[in-house]
Amino acid sequence: MDTWRESQAQGIAFLQGLSELSVPELAGTLISASTAGRLLQTARVYWGPTKNTRKQRLARDTAVESSMPVDALVLIERHLRKLADGIDEWAVRTELCALTGTVDDIDRAAADIVRRHNQAQDFDARPRRSLKGGKNTDAAGCRTISVTGPEREMVAFLRGLEKKASALRVDGMTYEQAMYDALMSGDGTPQEILTPMVVIGLPDWAKLLRHEGSESIFALTDGTILTGAELIARLMSDHHLVGLYDPLTGPVNAYQASRLPSAKQRLLASAESILCEWPGCTTSADSSSDHHIIAFKNGGPTNVVNMAKLCRLHNGRNDDDPEKPRNGRIERINGLPVWVPPGGGPPRRSRHPIKKLSAAELTRH
Ligand SMILES: [Zn+2]
Repeated sequence: MDTWRESQAQGIAFLQGLSELSVPELAGTLISASTAGRLLQTARVYWGPTKNTRKQRLARDTAVESSMPVDALVLIERHLRKLADGIDEWAVRTELCALTGTVDDIDRAAADIVRRHNQAQDFDARPRRSLKGGKNTDAAGCRTISVTGPEREMVAFLRGLEKKASALRVDGMTYEQAMYDALMSGDGTPQEILTPMVVIGLPDWAKLLRHEGSESIFALTDGTILTGAELIARLMSDHHLVGLYDPLTGPVNAYQASRLPSAKQRLLASAESILCEWPGCTTSADSSSDHHIIAFKNGGPTNVVNMAKLCRLHNGRNDDDPEKPRNGRIERINGLPVWVPPGGGPPRRSRHPIKKLSAAELTRH
């Protein structure tokens, strides 16, 4: 591990050592030709000839300063290839070289930063659409194709398949197998369902007094009482969904023009999380299930404060019994769902960039 760490941690110095080599020279030793190709391409960006020697040096110095590992430098180049024309590539590269965290953190943050630069230029994702693969047979006798398209179209496509898949799925069939069958059946119609939710941080002058049925009662500092619906009516009237969040304790209540009490808690939890709460997981809240933070069987109530979005996998991994730590568990600390490692240690939260748009984060600023 130490040898590996030493060779990988000083990415820029490592690349300097490689920059004079050719792919066959490098690949002839220990690594595949494709890995050698990626490393040398990255090495030449930072150490090869360029017209922008000053900018190149600045990017190198920034990456040295942040101890950017080799893997992260290679990933940064992959994201920069998606950068729209007309944007100063060296400036963005230097911005990315300053990122810190694990390689996975840097990977996601870099994708997010490049995307924001592209969006500022009205970048059109559609020309990037493609369907590739299907040429190589693996050891199991299968072939893989990959489909790339604008995120909205891909989500709508999967939504349509999911609906069909849940109808086709029988005992003993995995979710992925059902999705394949749905695709092959040819009649999963793309479905776009967009539900914007307006997030309102509970104002200081209104503190939650009690929950009455599905309504929340607020005591105001002027000595009066308002229901949550009345509070929302004062703050804002024309939006379909409004979620009330207390920055200290978490979700309070959701209001809708036509009430769907059964779906209400799920909506709040989705808006709170956006993604599965397990650090590193990228499953969307819409595809996740409602996890009881204190297990139902241990007397945990079905209310928004005791709920968190976890994908199927992490719902299964979560240590429902805190006395038997194995994989860690989700808890709510200071109003935020966090992952507590097995056997203690500081709680962690997902560092995915989109989490900044979750209700839990929005109401904190
Ligand atoms: Zn997950």
